[in-house]
Amino acid sequence: MATKSTSAGGDGKQTKIFTCSLCNLSVDYHYYGKKPPFVKSLMLLEDCYVMKDPFSSTGGLITLGGTCSQCGSVVCMSPDCSLFYSKRFCLPCVLKQQDQFPAEIQQEVSRKQVQDNR
Ligand SMILES: [Zn+2]
Ligand SMILES: [Zn+2]
Repeated sequence: MATKSTSAGGDGKQTKIFTCSLCNLSVDYHYYGKKPPFVKSLMLLEDCYVMKDPFSSTGGLITLGGTCSQCGSVVCMSPDCSLFYSKRFCLPCVLKQQDQFPAEIQQEVSRKQVQDNR
């Protein structure tokens, strides 16, 4: 905690990088949590990695990803990497516990697997 590694900046504007552990998508993010301070009256359903929408002047945001509720992996919002079913699950965890999910999710996931194997 006491290390002073950087001399540049110091105004709290350091860049934080979100990296998806599955597809290696890597993007700057501004906030991690449920209530982004730059969007008023918004409560996300889960702790998310959030960036400000650069094209929005009204405080839009882009959710980049979240943390798998099972294994703690950082995963992006891409349907190939994670899905949200009351909590966020990374695809490997969904595959491991497919029978815990409703049939439509199982179908979706198994369809992806077929595509991947070709
Ligand atoms: Zn990803
Ligand atoms: Zn997981």
